[in-house]
Amino acid sequence: MPEVAVALDVQSADAALALVDRLPPDADFFKVGLELFSRAGPAVVRELRRRELRIFLDLKLHDIPNTVRGAARAAAELEAEFLTVHASGGPRMIEAARTAVEGSETRIAAVTLLTSLARSDLHRMWGQAAPGHSTGAARLASVAMESGAHGVVAAAREARMLRARLPGGAFIVTPAIRLSGSSHDDQAAVATPAAAARAGADLLVVGRTVTGASDPRVAFRRVRAELAGR
Ligand code: C5P
Repeated sequence: MPEVAVALDVQSADAALALVDRLPPDADFFKVGLELFSRAGPAVVRELRRRELRIFLDLKLHDIPNTVRGAARAAAELEAEFLTVHASGGPRMIEAARTAVEGSETRIAAVTLLTSLARSDLHRMWGQAAPGHSTGAARLASVAMESGAHGVVAAAREARMLRARLPGGAFIVTPAIRLSGSSHDDQAAVATPAAAARAGADLLVVGRTVTGASDPRVAFRRVRAELAGR
């Protein structure tokens, strides 16, 4: 059964800790992303670790290798178990991230195509040369894995194809999970927990479908029940 990370997409450390307290204790990981990290910094990660919670640090790094190396080293020192980088940062950037976390518990997850990107966005960005989602994700995923990433982040609709192509040990993280009946918000490629699991995801990122529910605890239990009953 896939593991589940809950996205703490809130604006302060207090709000993040309050959200943690509103969730069942068995979430596998808590995801600290750009919004929370920009506001609360490494201190909130340290506080979550003090509570012995496991961290998915979703910084989606994309910079020159030297800068990414330094940031990845810092993430490893914070005991993040996952750190995201953009696969489009290229082979040398991914290699730098991997080298920086060597010997630590941190694993590098390379983001292929953002789940918010629609086909029309890819066309605006790349014109006639725009790859389809499947081709683009496959290409970015293989470059990332060849460059030392431990796994990839991809939409559920690409997970089955990636599972068949990637080496055995590669993990697949799938965000944009929605319980049936939930709003899609700004996401273009959503999937239910069961569909993502069937597609071969190892780790589901659940955000607003749980954290925006009137009772996040109940919504989180629905995710687990769906995964258990698929
Ligand atoms: O609330 P929602 O379920 O849409 O949140 C998805 C979370 O996963 C957000 O924290 C977002 O930053 C993250 N994410 C994503 N797409 C990716 C990688 C990460 O939506 N490709």
